[in-house]
Amino acid sequence: FAPWDDPDAKPLIRFKNVTKRFGEFTAIDNLTLDIYEREFFALLGPSGCGKTTMMRMLAGFESPTEGVIELAGQDIAPVPPNKRAVNMMFQSYALFPHLSVWDNIAFGLRRDSMPKRDVEDRVEEMLRLVRLEKFAKRKPHQISGGQRQRVALARSLAKAPKLLLLDEPLGALDKKLRQDTQFELMDIQEKTGTTFVIVTHDQEEAMTVASRVAVMDQGQLMQVSTPDRIYETPNSVYVADFIGDVNIIQGRATQDGEETYRIDWAEGQKPLTAKSSNVFSAGQTCHLAIRPEKVAITAERPEDAANAVQGRVHDIAYLGNLSTYHVELSNGTIIKAQTSNTRRISRRTFTWEDTVWLSWTATAGVLLAN
Ligand code: ATP
Repeated sequence: FAPWDDPDAKPLIRFKNVTKRFGEFTAIDNLTLDIYEREFFALLGPSGCGKTTMMRMLAGFESPTEGVIELAGQDIAPVPPNKRAVNMMFQSYALFPHLSVWDNIAFGLRRDSMPKRDVEDRVEEMLRLVRLEKFAKRKPHQISGGQRQRVALARSLAKAPKLLLLDEPLGALDKKLRQDTQFELMDIQEKTGTTFVIVTHDQEEAMTVASRVAVMDQGQLMQVSTPDRIYETPNSVYVADFIGDVNIIQGRATQDGEETYRIDWAEGQKPLTAKSSNVFSAGQTCHLAIRPEKVAITAERPEDAANAVQGRVHDIAYLGNLSTYHVELSNGTIIKAQTSNTRRISRRTFTWEDTVWLSWTATAGVLLAN
């Protein structure tokens, strides 16, 4: 399933040079984006980057100042919100407190004058989908937060929208429940085949649920790709830093062979070596982004390591399955190295103030211009 790699695939949603201004302020800045049918698409970014504005334009609560948004090839501008094949699930769920679970799910169907039998069939189907058959008669205050979230989901899906917008759908749940619910959401999305667009500021959540992630900053798309590509090959320091943990080493690049660069980076430190298909001119400022798990930590200097630096263990974060070591080099730079603890018993571990070697291969990091 990778319609974004298929040049003939037709997007379900297309933003064409969309700009949204509020007075003088540009919330969305000339943004172009395609989202495909059956995708679980995540809009990810810090507060104020424009995620919710994107959703509100899709739902029809806001309209673009410039540009066009298409749904299945049609400009949606003339279509009022209630006539769009789009539904939005709010973080607050907005359930009717005086109605039962059953009636909450049936609400939109009845409003559309769906025949009684069809309403019954559809509500039962939705209750099965979210596994709440036994709770049909309860009121929202008689069920748990996670169950309320599922009622809201069932209600949003009842009318079989082409597109479901989810604004921080799991924001109200605690971490454990949130993680379980992420898998449930993925499951439901797959079963219904509805295109989901989720807004979140939680990068782990976006990476878990989404087929593709758009990382946004200040009304612009910084990178749109699959979670693994975003993690492995971020296109900027911003994205590398926003997704997961990373070491960023700034230096100056000099070409030193085919797709290979020498990086001068600190007084008294040997130059580093990195392979890169990104091109740098001689002496150009560069940033080497390396994930901590790509950095090995050893007591002795490893032979044949493309890059090896010596330092002192400054801090250790024990995470159960993993440990992250913060190692301070002689020039004050801190580099993080993460090790797996699965074979902890047989593997040497380190403690505060230990002198250690950090090493990584020439292909361990991504060399970025900015
Ligand atoms: P959060 O994660 O905090 O919800 P967001 O990424 O969803 O943030 P938006 O709600 O899309 O951000 O807002 C983007 C920017 O547009 C913000 O700076 C916000 O203040 C501004 N903005 C949003 N709606 C309006 C409005 N109706 N009038 C003026 N400015 C607005």
